[in-house]
Amino acid sequence: MRKFLAFTLFLFLSGADLVAWGFFAHRKINRLAVYTLPIEMIGFFKANIEFITENAVNPDRRRYAVIGEAEKHFLDADAYGDSAVFKLPRYWNQALEIFTEEELRRHGIGPWNAYHTKIQLTEAFKRKDAKAILRLAADLGHYIADINVPLHTTKNYNGQLTGQYGIHAFWESRVPELLSDDFDFFVGKATYLEKPQLTAWDAVIVAHMALDSVLNFEKVLTERFDDDKKYSYEERGGISTRVYSRSFTIAYNDMLSGQVERQMRRSVKMIADFWYTAWIDAGQPDLNSLLKNPVEIPEEKMDNSKPLNVREHEGISSREKPEDLRKSFMRAMWRIN
Ligand SMILES: [Zn+2]
Repeated sequence: MRKFLAFTLFLFLSGADLVAWGFFAHRKINRLAVYTLPIEMIGFFKANIEFITENAVNPDRRRYAVIGEAEKHFLDADAYGDSAVFKLPRYWNQALEIFTEEELRRHGIGPWNAYHTKIQLTEAFKRKDAKAILRLAADLGHYIADINVPLHTTKNYNGQLTGQYGIHAFWESRVPELLSDDFDFFVGKATYLEKPQLTAWDAVIVAHMALDSVLNFEKVLTERFDDDKKYSYEERGGISTRVYSRSFTIAYNDMLSGQVERQMRRSVKMIADFWYTAWIDAGQPDLNSLLKNPVEIPEEKMDNSKPLNVREHEGISSREKPEDLRKSFMRAMWRIN
């Protein structure tokens, strides 16, 4: 049985890879961030840009395999009551004075974890540990991008509390996939962050304030679109799959006045700023010397034989039977009902 589960999960995970649209934005954001780096950094990062791009999605793959990973991707700000994004303790130690670690982890530790990962990246820069630098830079890119997503700041992360199940992948996958070729990603040069932990909180605040529009506009448009106009069918991994239609996606993006584009751009800039800040804080080590030996990084091993019972992210729940996982993944990403 164990073998069967592992095999099914393998199918599911590789299937997820085949239809890796959900990972599209993460990859694009990490990749774009590289181009904003200063001359002292860009050589090393460009030489490893494929790694930084491909591994932008590693933290999501890790969620079912590594205890403590899932909660790093979000913060359910509304679990703490009104205006919590403005009131929650900014630093982890302060938070532990008020809440138990279990409580904090249950509602997500996104902004604190982003800062923690930045500190680890600084240490890796200090050691001039090329492998660790690349792994942590890719991870940090993922975490920063996640806390810029409005639906990563709420208990209603997939519209499941408001009858809008599937909105998570709609906002963060479908819109970028269809429309981001026309987005403007010029963000200027990376700049130093005096207080990166507070910058991580800025991300959460801005994302959380955008949440009303994310949910309300989808509702308003749903009233205007008949079901056969709201959805269309596309081939996904050999399966004819119901997706949000192009016209519905464009109407949503227009109504949001480029919010998805703005949040992607904010992510790119913030990631670059975090990488740059970590490098400065490490004493600006010479990265060009690392170029002499090309970095070989083995693929991260994850044991998915016993998937963890973590909260679903985009509608995928590890509580579901493994044989349902692939279907569930497809449903979550593309709203098959
Ligand atoms: Zn994530």
